Amino acid sequence: MARYIFVTGGVVSSLGKGLSSASLAYLLQSRGYKVRLRKLDPYLNVDPGTMSPFQHGEVFVTDDGAETDLDLGHYERFTGISAKQSDNITTGRIYSDIIQRERKGGYLGKTVQVIPHVTDRIKEFIKKDVSSEDFIICEIGGTVGDIESLPFLEAIRQFSNDHGKKNTLFIHLTLVPYMRASDEIKTKPTQHSVKELRTIGIQPDIIICRSEQPLPFDQRKKISLFCNVPFENVIETVDVKTIYEAPISFNKEKLDKIVLKYFKLKSKKNVNLNPWKKITNVVLKTKPKVNIGLIGKYVNLKDAYKSLDEALIHGGIDNNVKVNLIRIESDKLKPNEIKEKLKNISGILIPGGFGKRGTEGKIEAIKYARQNKIPFLGICYGMQMAVIEYARNVLKIKKATSSEFSKTGVNVIGLIHEWNRDGKIFKGSKKELGGTMRLGLYEAKLKKNSLIQKIYRSNSINERHRHRYEVNIDYKDKFEDKGLIFSGMSPDHKLPEIIELKNHPWFIGVQFHPEFKSRPLNPHPLFSSFIKAVKIKNAKY
Ligand code: GLN
Repeated sequence: MARYIFVTGGVVSSLGKGLSSASLAYLLQSRGYKVRLRKLDPYLNVDPGTMSPFQHGEVFVTDDGAETDLDLGHYERFTGISAKQSDNITTGRIYSDIIQRERKGGYLGKTVQVIPHVTDRIKEFIKKDVSSEDFIICEIGGTVGDIESLPFLEAIRQFSNDHGKKNTLFIHLTLVPYMRASDEIKTKPTQHSVKELRTIGIQPDIIICRSEQPLPFDQRKKISLFCNVPFENVIETVDVKTIYEAPISFNKEKLDKIVLKYFKLKSKKNVNLNPWKKITNVVLKTKPKVNIGLIGKYVNLKDAYKSLDEALIHGGIDNNVKVNLIRIESDKLKPNEIKEKLKNISGILIPGGFGKRGTEGKIEAIKYARQNKIPFLGICYGMQMAVIEYARNVLKIKKATSSEFSKTGVNVIGLIHEWNRDGKIFKGSKKELGGTMRLGLYEAKLKKNSLIQKIYRSNSINERHRHRYEVNIDYKDKFEDKGLIFSGMSPDHKLPEIIELKNHPWFIGVQFHPEFKSRPLNPHPLFSSFIKAVKIKNAKY
């Protein structure tokens, strides 16, 4: 039977609940248990798919095509388990389901209320498609005290009642600030946050205190006393130098042992921290550096390309180099400055994106990479821009563009109206934006003897997608005659999935997002190969 662990946060947001949940999941997994991670988000969007990265960071896409919170990326990277649509729910989704049901008369004339209807729906979600898992770790987004979080907190309180204390555990993560002026560590915000939780009826079983300084004995004692938690269940998490150190640091604090003891379970295996020790070592100690230019619209926003940042680090680990990302805002990249701005760069990466702003800067940078034989990786929008660049400057179709941002040009990139997966036809929508893209895992067949086939060592791959537009197949022969090869195609040969250049050491564009499948313990071949090419280029300077 599954046991449920609920992780809440207090005092401030961004304390690292996702990372703590993911690290705990790894530790339990390493001790021989089957885990599953879930995120409950209290906002009213049905999913984060329509939210700008400025608001919410990256939108993470699952194999089964859900647009989810970026914490699901952490979950996958730490446990190696692919998340599913059913692992992320928002208040918006819950209300939307309830309202649809109400309109169909599904509540048989009853008044539909937060308690019990919303809370019941949340509880159903928490248990949904759970089979052989030993632990379900549910992270509740937001901070205790937020109006939006209340139905979720009420639901997990009820859940614990329904399933019994012995099957449910509450972990509360809080901030314990250090006051430099008085050289003191303050426990009061934690006391208040736990008081707030207890008002709702939730007594935490473990408190994780995030602090800049190690938590002294007296402060631990105080938190234990005022918050009604056993002394050994008050643990600290001091800022780590790299996120890969987190499982090591939580194990040092005995988090996994405390959890097993709570559930009266024994460790089935010795915990294995070696992979994380190795990675931490490489990340912190590796000396050689390579500069990669990341040219996009949201580059200065920390979490906007989270999985991409991670995938590049993974590629670096595989090649024993440190990746130094030079973030360049595409709309500030003027053609006459390209040479100067990109002069110390050994690789260029154009990530996914939407809308017209910054496209000309991206196209210029691609031209520079192509002409100067600089390794280039274009992801989704980055691939589309590479196709436009080639059409304009090599095929001499001067008005080449995408129907995403021009109504008058020649659409070498165009809106797709329907597509095929496993023999099933999917249709796009012109009216709705949310959840209407080509989303999730799609197969691509790889061309024999192409660079991409060598990289993947396979003739067929499955990667995650998130886009509305596609390269226009009508131009395929024209491109290939001039050296731009379509080296990956959808199984029905209608949708170009990968492009590569014949006369270039490493120039690849992919219509999908390989970054979502890269894991620190299993770096993605495309990123490993890209960084290898960048390393070779770097050595030549
Ligand atoms: N805006 C482009 C499209 O919808 C690319 C999307 C992306 O880069 N994820 O096709």
